Amino acid sequence: MDHVTSLKCLICGREYRPDEIEYVCPKHGDEGIVDVQYDYDLIGRRISPATLAANPNPTIWRYRPLLPIEPDSLVPPLTVGGTPLYRADRLAAGLGLQHVWVKDEGREPSASFKDRASAIAVVKAQERGAEIITTSSTGNAGAALSALCASVGQKNVIFVPESAPPAKITQLLVYGSTVILVRGAYDDAFELCAQAAKEFGWYNRNTGYNPYMTEGKKTAAYEICEQLTFTPGPSPFEGEGGMWNAPDRIFVPVGDGCIIGGIHKGLKDLLALGWITEMPKLMGVQAAGSAALYEAWRTGMAAMQMTPIDAQTIADSISAGLPADRIKGLAAVRETGGVYIKVTDDEILAAIPALARGSGVFAEPAAAAAYAGLVKAVEQGLVHPDERIIVLSTGNGLKDIASARKSVGEPMVVDKDLAAVKRALSK
Ligand SMILES: *Cc1c(COP(=O)(O)O)cnc(C)c1O
Ligand SMILES: [Zn+2]
Repeated sequence: MDHVTSLKCLICGREYRPDEIEYVCPKHGDEGIVDVQYDYDLIGRRISPATLAANPNPTIWRYRPLLPIEPDSLVPPLTVGGTPLYRADRLAAGLGLQHVWVKDEGREPSASFKDRASAIAVVKAQERGAEIITTSSTGNAGAALSALCASVGQKNVIFVPESAPPAKITQLLVYGSTVILVRGAYDDAFELCAQAAKEFGWYNRNTGYNPYMTEGKKTAAYEICEQLTFTPGPSPFEGEGGMWNAPDRIFVPVGDGCIIGGIHKGLKDLLALGWITEMPKLMGVQAAGSAALYEAWRTGMAAMQMTPIDAQTIADSISAGLPADRIKGLAAVRETGGVYIKVTDDEILAAIPALARGSGVFAEPAAAAAYAGLVKAVEQGLVHPDERIIVLSTGNGLKDIASARKSVGEPMVVDKDLAAVKRALSK
């Protein structure tokens, strides 16, 4: 890992060698989130837009020189990353916009964005010879770790709130994880998992604690810019500098703040390498019932002053009382001139069929929140019609059928004859 120069504490700025600490800054305990620092000159000699254009590997490992893993580490065989970026012209037109793309992370192996982070967790745990990996999760981070562990035969223990959607719990059981359902909220599962990891010496994948999760999540930012550059057809980026095209805004659903922090990190990498020339504005979308980061952003509060709220939303994947990655999550919006937006559960539910019908992408509630956020941003005049906008659809709609069913009507039911079909259709 000669390309990783240090792990830098985001509270005190102290830098550690990668082999000096495992997770957090010891001076700041569990809150001492660190950020991986790189030698971009070295990386720039190992990888470039030209070498990437010639690389047929579509997974996150195509960006390996930018990832904090050892050169000889084996990586899990599942196809993580390389998800489609769809131009959604009808969706855009309905909102009076010209350029909207949907990045469909529901196409990951375990059907959510979390596979990008869990893939790195498996590599890091194996580099350390860990016997067991653990994570707490609202459901998807666990399912992702569970799937990636299954792909390499790695033991793991997953803590999820008892209320997690059945599909996500089923994924954990099917992949063979040790599943611990916690009578409590996600924040309780997080705390319990952290205690168990310390007690038993398990490798801890927890979001906002393990510094490498951000590094897996950042790969989506690389993909977005690379895909915007190499899509055939007329380009709304004509005549702009930069080797890759960066969008103007990216709408990201936010719970703990790790995904939006990861996207920010990926874009910072690309700027440092000189592959893009402008930083896109990051638009954080939270559920109204779980809007801790929105409130902190609105009131100008520092991440370290935030206190837990009681989080309640149908979008389980973005339910977080005290967002674990709040430092990175706030910085992502503040440092890019973006905006935090909150959307109600009703707006989230309405966004599920709207996104599906406008683009063909079926999103779980948390993922549909990104689109609900775009709708709200348009209503509030926050986006310009000719801006190039990405909606990050972070998880597959099949993850939570019960919520999706609330957002649509009932189907016709007919007797088995054509006359009945005619009657039904004429209603
Ligand atoms: C985890 C998750 C999010 C939110 O990510 P954070 O890093 O917690 O902010 C959004 N959507 C889906 C589908 C998720 O699984
Ligand atoms: Zn520190």
